[in-house]
Parts: sequence; structure tokens; C-alpha cells
Amino acid sequence: MQRITILGATGSIGASTLDVLARHPDRYRVYALSAHGRVEELADACRRVKPARAVVGTAEAAGRLSQLLAGLDIHVDHGEQALCEIASSPDTDTVMAAIVGAAGLAPTLAAARAGKKVLLANKEALVMSGQLFMDAVREHRATLLPIDSEHNAIFQSLPATYARDPQAAGVAKILLTASGGPFLQRAVETLEAVTPDEACKHPNWVMGRKISVDSATMMNKGLEVIEAHWLFGAPADLIEVVIHPQSVIHSMVSYTDGSVLAQLGNPDMRTPIAHALAFPERIASGVPQLDLTAMAALQFHQPDFERFPCLALAFDALRAGGTAPALLNAANEVAVQAFLEREIGFRDIDRVIAEVMDAVPHGPAPSIEAVLAQDARARAAAKSVIARLRA
Ligand code: NAD
Ligand code: MG
Repeated sequence: MQRITILGATGSIGASTLDVLARHPDRYRVYALSAHGRVEELADACRRVKPARAVVGTAEAAGRLSQLLAGLDIHVDHGEQALCEIASSPDTDTVMAAIVGAAGLAPTLAAARAGKKVLLANKEALVMSGQLFMDAVREHRATLLPIDSEHNAIFQSLPATYARDPQAAGVAKILLTASGGPFLQRAVETLEAVTPDEACKHPNWVMGRKISVDSATMMNKGLEVIEAHWLFGAPADLIEVVIHPQSVIHSMVSYTDGSVLAQLGNPDMRTPIAHALAFPERIASGVPQLDLTAMAALQFHQPDFERFPCLALAFDALRAGGTAPALLNAANEVAVQAFLEREIGFRDIDRVIAEVMDAVPHGPAPSIEAVLAQDARARAAAKSVIARLRA
């Protein structure tokens, strides 16, 4: 029996994880669930899987959850310290890190420091803390498995010996595929007027609102380039973004001998979730088999960095290193939130990030405290740019 903690259980990844787990009651037991605000949804999940612990964002939410779960033996708690506890407890083996944004950093890092099997969906945590996070994984012998579909595909397309001897693997390029999101074809001049609902309407995937906007700006792919850099120890020049609108190939690895290995599948996150949960075994995920004969033609082309300036900003941050990716991530989180609340336009997102990257100096990232301080500076700077744009 593997005992599982799901951080972000009410989100899109959290729901898909619960779906896969429900298919294998003989293999998995849920130890703890967390959610931020959606208390009723968390209560429903708790009634189904009966975890030992449930954690929410505030004392008020914890009070409501306790009432909803009256009579069940579930310990209810709130706040970051409690999240870190359910991520690092000796009573859990595996942690699904599926909180969105920087809020997931502390508990995800706590899981790594406790040597857990960490299933990483929360890419922002790795983007922010890069080297420090990977050092914690190595030092505490944690197992890190990627949930992001692209990174899971790359992981599946690399040899099992890759982590031990990356040189011998002969990797020529990591080909990170991108659907291009909802605005791949839309006239560039009209992007200023995009609404939050239009931006969240992804052609192939159903996801949370923040990552959906990131997909529309292609910042999601930018964050994934940085994520790939850390997960696979690949320099920026080894990582190439390829637009593939059908989202059937989830990414590829190109080798020095001319071989290209790819992972294909229907666009459903239950595939990478099941893969990481059972690794190195395979289990059913509920995803239908890919029907190759029913598939549309597969297309591939180069990304347009002018249409998608966020992608270029992310490559810049990766090359700058140190605290630059934390700066990029925090400015993006604040700008996306302001866009979703209709305070700024769609194209203002990249303007805010570019301005913050120029205005706030970045340097080495010797500690998590330094990363969090940079995160706070970037948020303050982004808010003042947004206030000016609105004036
Ligand atoms: P979502 O918005 O659907 O869910 C987010 C979850 O995080 C919710 O359970 C919410 O309660 C929790 N949360 C939000 N703010 C929080 C806070 N301040 N403190 C604690 N918990 C908080 O998001 P999602 O689409 O499931 O994405 C989750 C993560 O997985 C993101 O980092 C995203 O980039 C990544 N990811 C998602 C997908 C996808 O298909 N949805 C694919 C690849 C990667
Ligand atoms: Mg992805």
C-alpha cells in the first residue's frame, strides 16, 4: 500500500489524481488532502477517500470543514505549516504536488527534504528554487517524477540510465512540444482585447485558470523550458520548443545518432499521473487508447517569439540564472491574477513582466530565503506597474 498526500486536491490535477487512485484501491490509500478555498469540494473528496488529515487555507475554512466532516475521524488543520506537515509526515510515502503557483513551494520542498516520492505538477516551485530544490532532492534521496505532460514524456523518452550518466545517453536536443494555445492563429493586433474567458478556453486541455492563461501567453511553455533545464540538467541551448497544435505527441528527445523518441497519448493528465504513481510499473488510468487511424494530421512548426514575448522572457530568465526565474514567475503570477480580475489587458501581462525584469536587479540564489525575498520584491514591483497601467 502506497500512502499518498495530495496537495491541491480540489484542482484540475488533484481531481485527476483522485480519479486514478479510485481505480486502484488495492495499491493506494490517501493519507491527506489539501485545498485552499473550495471547502465543500474538499469535504466531498474527504467523504469518499477518508484521509487521516485535511488542510485548508484559513482558520475560518478549517472551522467550516470540521462542521462538514463532523462524525468522521479526519484531523482538520490550516495554513502553510500544516501543509508542510502532511507533505513530510512519516505516515505518507508519496506527495502529489499540485498546488498552483509559489504557494506550493514550501510544502513541495518539505516533501523533498523528507525524502518522499514527489510527483511534481507544481512547476512554479521548481522554476523559483531550481538548484536549491534539486540539491534537496539529491541530499535527502527523494524521488522526483514529473507530472507535467511534456516532462513526463521526456522522462519516458530518456534511457533509465540517464540520471546516472547523462553524457553517455547522447541527447542532442530536448524537443518540448507546445500546442500554441487558443491564440496561435488569432490576428496579433486583436490580442489586446482578449477576455479572461477567451484566454482560458484551451483547444486541447481542461486546466485551472492560471495555467490556462499561461498557455495562452505561452509563459507556460517558458516555465516548462526552465523546468526541463532543472529536471534533466539540460542547458538552455539543448531545449527547443516545437509548436504541435494537435497535442498528441507530448514531447520528444532527439539523439546524436539521428533517432527521435516520443511519447504519444490522448491529452488527458491521468496518463502522466498514472505513470508517475506506478513507476516503474504501469497501471490503468481511465484514458482511452489512442486511436491512430482517427487522428488528424500531425503538424510541427517553430514558435513565433514576437507573438509570444513571454516565451522569450523565460529563456532570458533561464540564461540569467540565479533569482531571475523567481522574478519572472512572481511577476507573471501577479500579472495573470490582475488579468483574470480584469484590471489589465491580455498584452499587459508581458509588459508587466518585462518591466519588472528590467527594474528589479537579480543575483545569485544561495538560499530559499533569498528566493522568497526576490519573489516579494517582484510582486511589489509588478503591483506598482499594474497601478500605473490602470491610472
Ligand atoms: P487549479 O487552479 O485547478 O488547482 C489549484 C489547487 O491549488 C487547488 O486545489 C487550490 O485549492 C490550491 N491552491 C490554490 N492557491 C493556493 C494557496 N495559496 N495555498 C494552498 N493551496 C492553494 O490548478 P491546476 O490546473 O490543477 O494546476 C496545479 C499545478 O499543476 C500548477 O502548478 C500547474 O502549472 C500544474 N499543471 C497543471 C496541468 C493541468 O492540466 N491542469 C498540467 C501540467 C501542470
Ligand atoms: Mg505542460
